[in-house]
Amino acid sequence: MSRPREGGCACGAVRYRLTSEPLFVHCCHCLSCQRQTGSAFVINLLIEADRVELLAGEPKPVDVPRDDGSKQRIYRCPTCQVAVYSEYGRPEVLFVRAGTLDEPREITPDVHIYTRSKVPWVALPDGASAFEVYYDSKKLWPPESLERVRAALGR
Ligand SMILES: [Zn+2]
Ligand SMILES: [Zn+2]
Repeated sequence: MSRPREGGCACGAVRYRLTSEPLFVHCCHCLSCQRQTGSAFVINLLIEADRVELLAGEPKPVDVPRDDGSKQRIYRCPTCQVAVYSEYGRPEVLFVRAGTLDEPREITPDVHIYTRSKVPWVALPDGASAFEVYYDSKKLWPPESLERVRAALGR
């Protein structure tokens, strides 16, 4: 990584810096993500929470119901309410929304998930890793990411 990735909300009250590359990058086509974003999919950078350095502001957690009955904690700018990251039951790993990065075009998903609900006019690139539902991280993640997440979760 030549320089740390930075990002923030729309009004600028929340700013963050990622102190390393992410563990893995998801492009999620599930209906919950479509509903939350009002878009066709969401792109999430999975990264240890202690590698997300807040430079300004304090994102406010909002528990949002998901279609499977679980809750997803989404962190929003307290002023403009833009969602910058979320967590799925494990506060040690954050899902940073790639669209809030200053340079979102630098991010390419490592995997497409929940393609069973992908809108039909979105075509995935040839050779892209894609799954109807979910996948086994032990098979897909680089060894160093598996090592990092084990350390973060204290396993
Ligand atoms: Zn804001
Ligand atoms: Zn999703």
